Amino acid sequence: MTETHDLVGFILERNAMQSREFCSPGAALARRLYRAQHPSEIIALKCMDGRLNLSVMTNTPPGIIKPYRNIGGKFDLGWPFFGRLILDDVEYSVSKGRPTIVLSTYHFSKGDTHRGCAGHGYDTHAARTEAMRLSCQFTDAFGSKYEAVWPLVVGIETDEGGLVFHGAGERLLDIAAHVDADVEHLHTEFRHLYPAVPDSLLEDLLPIVIGNQRYVRDMRAQKRPVIDLEHREQIIAVGRGFDWLHLPNRALMIGPYDPQWEHAVAVAGGIVINNMNTKRIPSECGALLLVSAPFRAIGADQGVAIEKALFLAHEAHRVLAEQVPAIIGTLKTLVGTVDMNTRHFHVLKDVVFASSLGSIESHGNE
Ligand SMILES: [Zn+2]
Repeated sequence: MTETHDLVGFILERNAMQSREFCSPGAALARRLYRAQHPSEIIALKCMDGRLNLSVMTNTPPGIIKPYRNIGGKFDLGWPFFGRLILDDVEYSVSKGRPTIVLSTYHFSKGDTHRGCAGHGYDTHAARTEAMRLSCQFTDAFGSKYEAVWPLVVGIETDEGGLVFHGAGERLLDIAAHVDADVEHLHTEFRHLYPAVPDSLLEDLLPIVIGNQRYVRDMRAQKRPVIDLEHREQIIAVGRGFDWLHLPNRALMIGPYDPQWEHAVAVAGGIVINNMNTKRIPSECGALLLVSAPFRAIGADQGVAIEKALFLAHEAHRVLAEQVPAIIGTLKTLVGTVDMNTRHFHVLKDVVFASSLGSIESHGNE
């Protein structure tokens, strides 16, 4: 089975493999050890862009950095669902005696402006300004003096994968310019960049930075062709619980946080069609709408997750049929729930669309 010709099979096989790895004694113990050594909870607010995978870019095991995805990395704590989830995250961290690091990110390409953020019209200044606004909103909502929540503005350069940490004013630290710096040097740099941040929190940030140094060195050694630096997504992933994908540049990911989240689905559909038209992905392979809702407990938690996944699938399919009709003929759909204890994707069978413009496929894998 090739990943490009059977996207559904590829995704299900990928999930089975990643779930097995996630549940393996070694990986489970490594995560617990990592948590014990680096207790800060880390949230990453990111664009839906498939090239942004902070776990991969920082060589951090899946399950440590908690991602939230939306077009352009645009979020607002005033969105009821998003505000509730973040509040739950912070309350959980506080109950465990842990601080929360919130990475408010934007992305850009140093090689070509047009490999930057489509969600901001390739305007890196606008993308950075939005990340800074969001960081300030976190400070306003959670306070700046009590050490529980630390919003940090981080740029992600997608050609090499280097992170850029922003401090006060114009101060910044570009990891791509410090790929060989030793840990003492990095510690000193971060101490200057974030004078108010406690040492314990810096200790939790440094493994991510060191992992990013390694990633940038690897990317430079690989000398990737330009096509690999551009959009190559075939999958529109809608919902939450996708960290098991762990694949850069294959899926555009949209969480249902913005009350008008379906607009981002239409934009994602346009990006996938453009990827086909410009032959960055083979058009005969088609596109995949992958929909997921996470749950932690069997019973009602899973029951509601099933309803969420079905709702998201129908809305996403409806907006694609209305606004990106060219994609419907090539679109397969895979809907399910993800058990966050195992990262196993439970396929929902016999999903049928009311829309006459397209049909959801039924997959009897489970
Ligand atoms: Zn973007």
